Amino acid sequence: MILRRVIKHFHNQEWTAIFLDFLIVVVGVFVGLQVQNWNDSRQEVVQEQKYYHRLHTEIVKGLDETRAAFTFQQVQRQNLNGALEAFREASEIRHLSDGQCASIYFSHIYEDAFIPLPTVTELLASGQLSILKKDDLRALLIAHFLALKGWEDGVDGLQADRAVMTSRYADLIRLGVEFSNWSFVQQTFIDNGSMRGKIHCNLAGMRANNRFKNDLFDNSSRQESYFESLKLQQEALHSIHAKLDDVLRISHGKEVKP
Ligand SMILES: [Zn+2]
Repeated sequence: MILRRVIKHFHNQEWTAIFLDFLIVVVGVFVGLQVQNWNDSRQEVVQEQKYYHRLHTEIVKGLDETRAAFTFQQVQRQNLNGALEAFREASEIRHLSDGQCASIYFSHIYEDAFIPLPTVTELLASGQLSILKKDDLRALLIAHFLALKGWEDGVDGLQADRAVMTSRYADLIRLGVEFSNWSFVQQTFIDNGSMRGKIHCNLAGMRANNRFKNDLFDNSSRQESYFESLKLQQEALHSIHAKLDDVLRISHGKEVKP
């Protein structure tokens, strides 16, 4: 219709009207594009918020699911550090605690407590990470993603040639009862910091065995290194969590309605 009108104005050489028609078309296109852009931006903001919520859920769930494993490793570390005191040259210690004995037994075990964030993996794979507009949060997510690969490769290395003390030194460390299942063992160990009366250690025999002492020191160093990675991960996840709480206006799990 506007085309017919323009042709008519051309015929009549009505230049002002032609200019006005031209202006109407230009303004129309401009407004149309602006509305389209505005819609796209709104969609992106909605999508961005969805990703923040997904990330928040993944972090809270991940931290929750790996809490037991993290605590297990924490108790392990404390017990092993304590046990090593008994193996110093001039040590007066003649008895290992139940916890220290259990930790020597478990010194080849690494409870998996690394938390990947599927949303970050998905956004990186599809080249869409820039949809997250918060630069500081994006930087934390990328740092965690890159560090995670290193931590996971690291634990593979730590586990590769660790010493399984229970089979290498069966005469020095002995199981008093049958363990029914691992989650029971893990929980008992976390609750008591030991496996009271269930594992027996011959400290005098251990002290006299240099190979045992070397292997124990090696396993303890590996456990220490694993725990350091877990600690770095916890710090990274807590920083991301704090930023997400800030962005989403979440306070201790309760959402504050805008
Ligand atoms: Zn939160």
